[in-house]
Amino acid sequence: MSTRTLRGIGASPGISIGPAHHYMGHKLIISRRENANPQVEKERLEAALLQGKQEIHELALQAQGSVGAREAEIFEAHEMFLSDPDLLEHVHEMIEQQINADYSWQEATKQYAAQMRAIEDPYLSARATDLEDVAQRILRILQGEQEQKPHITEPVILIAPDLTPSETVTFDSQKIRAFCIAEGGPTSHVAILAKALGIPAVTGLGQAIDQLREGAQVIVDGTAGEIFLDPDTATLTDYEQRAQTLARTNKDAFASAQQPARTADDHLIEVGANVGAPEQVEEALRQGADSIGLLRTEFLFLERDSAPSEQEQYTIYRDIFQAMQQRPVVIRTFDIGGDKPAPYLEMAKEMNPFLGIRGARLALKHPPLFQSQLCALLRAGEGHRLRIMFPMVSTREEIKALQEQVKQAQATLEARKASYAREVEIGIMIEVPSAALMSDVLAPLVDFFSIGTNDLTQYVLASDRTNATVAYLADALHPAVLRLIRMVSDAAHAHGKWVGLCGELAGNPLATPVLLGLGLDEFSMTPGTIPLVKQRLRHYSTTQARDIALHALDLHDANEVHAYLASL
Ligand code: PEP
Ligand code: MG
Repeated sequence: MSTRTLRGIGASPGISIGPAHHYMGHKLIISRRENANPQVEKERLEAALLQGKQEIHELALQAQGSVGAREAEIFEAHEMFLSDPDLLEHVHEMIEQQINADYSWQEATKQYAAQMRAIEDPYLSARATDLEDVAQRILRILQGEQEQKPHITEPVILIAPDLTPSETVTFDSQKIRAFCIAEGGPTSHVAILAKALGIPAVTGLGQAIDQLREGAQVIVDGTAGEIFLDPDTATLTDYEQRAQTLARTNKDAFASAQQPARTADDHLIEVGANVGAPEQVEEALRQGADSIGLLRTEFLFLERDSAPSEQEQYTIYRDIFQAMQQRPVVIRTFDIGGDKPAPYLEMAKEMNPFLGIRGARLALKHPPLFQSQLCALLRAGEGHRLRIMFPMVSTREEIKALQEQVKQAQATLEARKASYAREVEIGIMIEVPSAALMSDVLAPLVDFFSIGTNDLTQYVLASDRTNATVAYLADALHPAVLRLIRMVSDAAHAHGKWVGLCGELAGNPLATPVLLGLGLDEFSMTPGTIPLVKQRLRHYSTTQARDIALHALDLHDANEVHAYLASL
């Protein structure tokens, strides 16, 4: 039998080999019963909701231990569905019509989830999956069924149409070598949880999962998003070796992670961590982060029904600075909009939210909210190395308006006689093509650039980063993106400014020599990838890397760049 290759989205890196095992889950479907006693049914529902809350609470505790506090928050959102007044009112209305509680709950949650999906927003669509997850839990309790733990005895490559967060964390992680999922993009919950568990995953495979026969031997490359079915001996040996080398390299890299990344010709490169929640700071330091190169502050602003106060923000930022001591911290002001709506802000429905009011554009439309963040940052950064960064900047006028906002926050703090950071670096993300193309004009206005290749790639290749069907286009190693990185890097250096990169590309070890060769001074990435990238940086001299970059820039498409870098 010859090797067959299936392609999906690389959602969690690493290589695994093993037998395919299909997991279908167990979905309850309830029939409608008339003439049920509303009082009895309401009490049954009440008891089931209570038990459901307890189960979810236990699951969250278990997830905190196995995948981390931030990821466990997914289950807090589950708990909230169980007290949602609109949803419960709808269920009660049906129960009042003497319909059984199970059917009423099933139908109300189904309608609710369908409404969320109809908006075609990836964030709401993930919430709809969450609701379906919770809905099934309550139905199971109402039916008096025990929670069934997936029974897997031998390590397998788990294949599933989709996985709910509860399912993902209840598997015995020792028995799952990789996940192969039909649904889901790179930012789906399965992807987030798989990464946190350190299990390779490929998502967005669609119907191709049907080709993976039960028990067939499968290689999963979660970094490349590739699956090899019935591999021939040469492919199998090649991947077995790669998996072994990867394991060894990871171990060695971790051992030297706390050392700085000096290139072979002694250039010091700063390697920072991308952090999306305060709890991740400790992990970032454990993995050897020299700095925080991107603190995504959205965690403070999303999934809540009112804005955080200045004081609330201050306390959290201050804790982060204290943990980082004198290491630099790049704090990105809130990047709300696009796929990240905030319920308490008046945000008009947009046909193309990624091209709409997002990031800096939104900040400039909501001065009081923005001022509260800037004041909190300036206060918390006192005595530390504060770097403020603005997202989604597209023009010079925006930079000027943003700087005015910083001045206004400083004036407010002066008037309050508050102590605050006097020395602060101000930078922008380069993630919009206009900003990259005009970087020579923008460089004199700022202290640094940080290139956001996740967005830059989607805008340059016109390929929505949340749409799995066009994911094959959104390749940050495309020469079109590399050429822009060079342009930005040259512009920054010509004006004596430093330039970093904080998109996912920074954490891809394959890309390290080319990014080094393009002249980046700083790389910032998911904490888990720091040790390996530091090790790769030490391996190359800047001259070698420059030659590699020049070669890559001359290639004609992303495939050629991948093949070239893989051959090094
Ligand atoms: C980016 O766009 O590359 C980036 C780092 O920002 P985010 O992924 O948060 O949009
Ligand atoms: Mg971005």
